[in-house]
Amino acid sequence: MLEVYPVLCRPDYMDNYAYIIIDSASKLAAVIDPSEAAPVIKKCNDLGIKPQYILNTHHHFDHVDGNIELKNKYNAQIACNSADMHRIEGADIGLEAGKTFSLGESVAEIIDVSAHTIGHILYYFKSDKILFTGDTLFNLCIGGIFEGTAEQMFAALQKIKSLPDDTLFYPGHEYTMGGARFAFAYNHGNEDIQKYLTQARERLSSGLPVAPMSLGEEKKCNPYLEVSTLAEFKSNWGFYSSYKPNGLTTLVGVERYLTIPWHSAPSKLGVFCKACNKKALPKAEPFYLYQIRTICFPNLHRFLD
Ligand code: ZN
Ligand code: FE
Repeated sequence: MLEVYPVLCRPDYMDNYAYIIIDSASKLAAVIDPSEAAPVIKKCNDLGIKPQYILNTHHHFDHVDGNIELKNKYNAQIACNSADMHRIEGADIGLEAGKTFSLGESVAEIIDVSAHTIGHILYYFKSDKILFTGDTLFNLCIGGIFEGTAEQMFAALQKIKSLPDDTLFYPGHEYTMGGARFAFAYNHGNEDIQKYLTQARERLSSGLPVAPMSLGEEKKCNPYLEVSTLAEFKSNWGFYSSYKPNGLTTLVGVERYLTIPWHSAPSKLGVFCKACNKKALPKAEPFYLYQIRTICFPNLHRFLD
């Protein structure tokens, strides 16, 4: 069995999740995407473990910055896509898509999802029904396309969609509320999205990550997984710029979920109401600024201040 412990890193700024995973049979442990060393070391101390491996999904700084400190402290080995070894400092083990990585008795299939970056991989622990999605799939949204194409992102999402509905997925960031407004509107505030957001709110209110959600729940509520053709995906890539709030139902519906407390104090990064330029949202991700700005209701600040 695989135990999973999320560790929030860069809170209030990027809200990365590193994950400490432990194979219960062998007690071997690994850290997935250590954005920072300090919070990971603290959690390892709490758990009384020393990770033998560091596993990276991709090379971005907010996923690898803790690598070297942890490698040195624990004499751990860094594993990543073999194609990314040249750009991940201190990489020891090159992984190949289609092959596996074993942490004791827990075996991860390595799935290539090149799009966010070329060489981005997922770790899919098939028998445990656990999937680490890095910056490809988040709750209710997806990662930006930095190095690949829309075609590649669509193909990557189809690979994820082909996995069983009862798979639990763990994303690289807490971006749920960044995607919530659009997902709510896209799903016309239906029962599925309401259920999803209620669950998300409960978890965040208790200081927990929204993850893990099941892929089955995600397929019903994440607009990017809901589209079924490349044409639809591409035309919807402008989702955020084309969406216009269309009535009170949406406004009231979204408002109910905007009172969700974050893990930590509101960010200095703000989004500003188009109508009055007053700070409109308690926090926003830089990558998602545009998305939130364009769906910002003229009087959004009225219930957020
Ligand atoms: Zn990234
Ligand atoms: Fe990231």
